Amino acid sequence: MAKFVFVTGGVCSGLGKGITASSIALLLKAKGYKVFMQKFDPYMNVDPGTMSPIQHGEVFVTADGCETDLDLGHYERFIDEELNYTSNITNGKIYSSVIEKERRGDFLGATIQIVPHISNEIKNKIYEAATTSNADIVITEIGGTVGDIESSVMMEALRQFRLEQGRENTLFVHTTLVPYLFGSNELKTKPTQNSVIELRRLGIQPDILVTRAPIELGESIRKKIALFGSIPVENIIEAKDVNNIYEIPLNFHKQKIEEIILKQFNLKIEKSNLSYWEELIHIVGQLDNEVEIALVGKYIELEDAYLSVKEALKAAGYKYKTKVKINWIDSEILEKKDTKIEDVLGNAKGILVPGGFGSRGIEGKILACQYARENKIPYLGICLGMQIAVIEFARHVCGIEDASSTEFDEVCKNPVIDLMANQKAIVNKGGTLRLGNYECHIEKGTLAYKDYNQETIFERHRHRYEFNNQYREILEKNGMVFSGINPDLNLVEIIELPDHPHFIAGQFHPEFKSRPTKAHPLFASFVQAAINLKKKK
Ligand code: GLN
Repeated sequence: MAKFVFVTGGVCSGLGKGITASSIALLLKAKGYKVFMQKFDPYMNVDPGTMSPIQHGEVFVTADGCETDLDLGHYERFIDEELNYTSNITNGKIYSSVIEKERRGDFLGATIQIVPHISNEIKNKIYEAATTSNADIVITEIGGTVGDIESSVMMEALRQFRLEQGRENTLFVHTTLVPYLFGSNELKTKPTQNSVIELRRLGIQPDILVTRAPIELGESIRKKIALFGSIPVENIIEAKDVNNIYEIPLNFHKQKIEEIILKQFNLKIEKSNLSYWEELIHIVGQLDNEVEIALVGKYIELEDAYLSVKEALKAAGYKYKTKVKINWIDSEILEKKDTKIEDVLGNAKGILVPGGFGSRGIEGKILACQYARENKIPYLGICLGMQIAVIEFARHVCGIEDASSTEFDEVCKNPVIDLMANQKAIVNKGGTLRLGNYECHIEKGTLAYKDYNQETIFERHRHRYEFNNQYREILEKNGMVFSGINPDLNLVEIIELPDHPHFIAGQFHPEFKSRPTKAHPLFASFVQAAINLKKKK
């Protein structure tokens, strides 16, 4: 039977609960345990797939095709394990599943109530994650802040879960804030005290407190928090602000968080294998060079909307001991009459157009892509970024002036990007994109083959539109190479331009498979090309 760690948050959001959960999981894995991670989100959407990235940040896609919270990206990057449909549970999922059972008649005449029906469903999702993953330890993060109406039933389910499993099989980590007040120049423990009281009101006594503070707490503050929180002083783990989130696991390791957990679980405490992570931190601390990459998108007011892309660029930089400086560019600015593209993109040593939906800002992205192609600046197109590259090439190289995607122009005469027949029949927007892993065959002798050094790859998808094969011949004649093809449906997965130093784009999202310690081949070669360009100039 697995053991269970629950990570809750208090005082306010944005304290780094996801990073705390990920760090704990990484440290337990480094002790030789098989870990699995899960996030409960208290909103009523079934999944974040239908939410605006500006509200919610990026939608992370798992290999099995689930649209999930961006914290799952942190989880995968930290623990380097593929997560799945059991890893992101929302109130929307819980409620719709219970209502579906009710309609089917599964409850045999019972009155359906929040407790026990909803709370049982929540507990079942935790057990399901344990049984399907076969993990030794499951780490479950609860979204939101303790005291939220939305998450109260989730907290109630956790209270019951401990009752069922006992203290030796369950452990509660609560993350809180210890603010520093200027003027009186001191750290304040009251918000943390109140947050623990709030948690206790729900019937949960935390075992570990992770305290976020700008400076070290010091002995007297630690003692005070321990006393009011009813936990041993050594179970207060300090999460001091850091420059780089990847430092956090090592900070926690120094405070022996994983040993506290394993002791409570009566599990063996072996030596940690963390040298690979220490090496990463060493590299991150010594990035001597810098290279500028322009990321041209439309949700750039929220960097989290491109979180995995950002992390994948950083990871590629680590490979070459280079800091990747991202220049966040709103594509709509490029569309303005008085904008000189050169002024905006002139310093970029690489141009990346990431995924996106809808017609706003499209022409600006096309201009950015054209600038990259004509000025021989390395280009990486991701999903929409590939569709943009196809449209741009069709218009400006093949002379198909009105080439577009039916996503932006439903009646366009030359839909080089179009819906497949099965997508045309779809009415519901939620969960109906082409999602998750699909196979791709790579043509030898291409840039894609050089990058992957493999003939068959699997990458994660999240899109509705496809390259329209009717235009393959004319684009090929003009010099575009279709270097990656899905063998089952003959769909274009990767395009490239061999007469350009580095121009490549994929219909999938490589960023989801990048790890800080293992740069993704497409990102690595893109950043390398940017570094080479910088050296030349
Ligand atoms: N909007 C495009 C589509 O649906 C691209 C999606 C994306 O970039 N993720 O096909």
